[in-house]
Amino acid sequence: MVDFRLSQNDTEILEQVRREGLAVRKHARYFDEHEEELPPEKFPEADAFPGVSERVNRRPAGDTPPATFQMLLGMARQWGDTLPLRQPPLALGNAALQAAGTPEQKQRWGATALSMAITEPGCGSDSKAIKTTARLDGEHWVINGEKIFVTTGIRAQGVVVWATVDAQRGRAGIKSFVVLKGTPGFEVTRKEKKLGIRASDTAALSFIDCRVPRDHLLGGDETVPRQGSGGFRGVMKTFNMTRPAVGAIGVGKARASLDFAEEALAGEGVAVDWERGRRARSTIEAKLVQMEADAEAASLTVLRAGWLADAGEENNVEASIAKAKGGEVSRTVPQGCIELLGAMGASREHLLEKWLRDGRITDIYEGTGQIQRLIIARAIFGYSSEELG
Ligand SMILES: Cc1cc2nc3c(=O)[nH]c(=O)nc-3n(C[C@H](O)[C@H](O)[C@H](O)COP(=O)(O)OP(=O)(O)OC[C@H]3O[C@@H](n4cnc5c(N)ncnc54)[C@H](O)[C@@H]3O)c2cc1C
Repeated sequence: MVDFRLSQNDTEILEQVRREGLAVRKHARYFDEHEEELPPEKFPEADAFPGVSERVNRRPAGDTPPATFQMLLGMARQWGDTLPLRQPPLALGNAALQAAGTPEQKQRWGATALSMAITEPGCGSDSKAIKTTARLDGEHWVINGEKIFVTTGIRAQGVVVWATVDAQRGRAGIKSFVVLKGTPGFEVTRKEKKLGIRASDTAALSFIDCRVPRDHLLGGDETVPRQGSGGFRGVMKTFNMTRPAVGAIGVGKARASLDFAEEALAGEGVAVDWERGRRARSTIEAKLVQMEADAEAASLTVLRAGWLADAGEENNVEASIAKAKGGEVSRTVPQGCIELLGAMGASREHLLEKWLRDGRITDIYEGTGQIQRLIIARAIFGYSSEELG
């Protein structure tokens, strides 16, 4: 059964997250304009808000199930700003560890912040083109290659790096390895400069004859099958939860933009009268109604992907739908709000123009909008990635 009602406890947690978001907004412009600086682990305002994570972990059975609640939390957090009041303790590589690691690996690195490095100068959407190599030498893997645009690459204590152990075998030859900071041959080479989410640490990494113990291969399976994609599918499962979470970021940005625009327009006496028929609505009202509908639809796709995960059901297509729709509204809604507000929307006095730039990434990382649509189309029409790629 699907139940859209929130318990009092869940409502209070989400309200606190939104209040935290409001508190951090005052720092958001500074770190947008000082990209070279990393924000602190915790802003002073954080002390006024006891950590929500304990409260989230203590939620009674019967409250919103955990994956669905993570999506609601993501939307609420991003409604504030991309900049968090406290830096999250873990990163994307931890999701890979949970999806593909052995029980022993999960135990060993569960509390170690791990970024995830797939993208290279010559390889993004087409991950089978990875050039980074991992060669077995005795009891060590020797990793060589370059990775770019790695989120939390500077802050994280280590990285899950994708490399090929057999370039002839395409996806089947791709494995992922845990490499910890301080391992000789592994270096952060630069902080990337970006259009948006400038407060987020994004790094380029290099691996030169970097040796890691044999048991750092995530999942531990060293075989490379002649047919099929080998362990690649297992690692791709990482995205079944993270793609809807990225969709939630997009919805949060859309919601924040709409709230800002609606408040500004209300100050000028323009507000949607929901009782009035659409023939009587002004162009501005019609645009607001359309954007509200788009944001709500995107939000429902995100919640559906989370709900399926909670139900223990396959959700990879729904994860792509959530990411595609969340990514779409992260572009179209802030853009539409800027159009409605004119110069005020574009002004750096407010955060709306920043949210447009910040939101743009949700349609790029973890698979672009076009790639999500390919995945969805393959599922609908029953094509393989060789037939529709
Ligand atoms: C801020 C930021 C953070 C990031 N964080 C990470 C991270 O933590 N880890 C990581 O590994 N990477 C990360 N990335 C990289 C991101 O995942 C890639 O940029 C993304 O996968 C796209 O790859 P690309 O840039 O090489 O573009 P390309 O793959 O070259 O694509 C260029 C364009 O072509 C389109 N396209 C490509 N193939 C097809 C196709 N078959 N059909 C139709 N259209 C297609 C794409 O949609 C896109 O519009 C990050 C990027 C940014 C900007």
